[in-house]
Amino acid sequence: MHQDYFPPGIVVLTGAGISKESGIDTFRDPDGLWNRVNLEDVATLEGWHRDKKKVLDFYNEARGLFRAAQVAPNAAHDALARLEAKYGGDVTIVTQNIDPLHEMAGSKNVIHMHGREGEVRCMKCGTVFPSDADLSPQSVCPKCGTVGELRPNIVWFGEQPMHLDEIYAALDKCGLFIAIGTSGQVYPAAGFVLHVRRRPRVRTVELNLEPTENQPLFEEHIYGPATRIVPPYVERLLAEGWKPGGW
Ligand code: NAD
Repeated sequence: MHQDYFPPGIVVLTGAGISKESGIDTFRDPDGLWNRVNLEDVATLEGWHRDKKKVLDFYNEARGLFRAAQVAPNAAHDALARLEAKYGGDVTIVTQNIDPLHEMAGSKNVIHMHGREGEVRCMKCGTVFPSDADLSPQSVCPKCGTVGELRPNIVWFGEQPMHLDEIYAALDKCGLFIAIGTSGQVYPAAGFVLHVRRRPRVRTVELNLEPTENQPLFEEHIYGPATRIVPPYVERLLAEGWKPGGW
């Protein structure tokens, strides 16, 4: 069938803002976890080589807070799961978040480009495995037996994000690109909007608490808390639907 007669893909890029109302701090919250530490110390390879214990203690604490908060998906995560279930074409969620809230809401097609909570990787042999256990510089890799090389399977600043081939393949097929709750300051995610705009007839929408620096790059803007703005936006998309020729 000619592509013009088949609903094109939708790519939804999500950031920390979509999980804020589930009780998980964004990078920018003044009192948030991330502002109590120096990012260079806990989210870079250099920080890891300098002081593994400091890095691992930080993630152990973050995981503890996460569990204690018993976070649950909010209305924005739920709305995106409904979009995937009801829309006639592909819906791909590309998330910068390490939390599992999209999956908990029922989304199936989720790509975690910055890794995910609950996974551990051995820096020596590369094995990734699920684990909720606290890590220390004495932790032993169950695969290769190396001591002190286990780390959270999370992408740190300066490291290559994961699944980029899959992400660019989805971006290259999409007809609608939606960015939700992301400040547009972390690359390459911040550049996805420019990437899709190289093709004609791709619609771009920013949904965020407030305008971001990337605002001029989007055609449509909706501002407010994600739980208030995402559900009606999704309902509008589903009601209007896609028609050959565009949105
Ligand atoms: P960011 O903290 O830089 O930006 C968050 C954006 O969300 C801001 O523009 C803010 O205005 C907006 N926002 C805040 N509350 C909102 C709400 N209720 N509704 C809608 N928007 C809201 O986060 P980012 O752009 O995702 O990028 C930074 C990095 O932070 C990512 O690499 C990510 O891995 C990491 N991170 C992830 C989590 C998580 O897993 N939930 C939490 C904090 C940071």
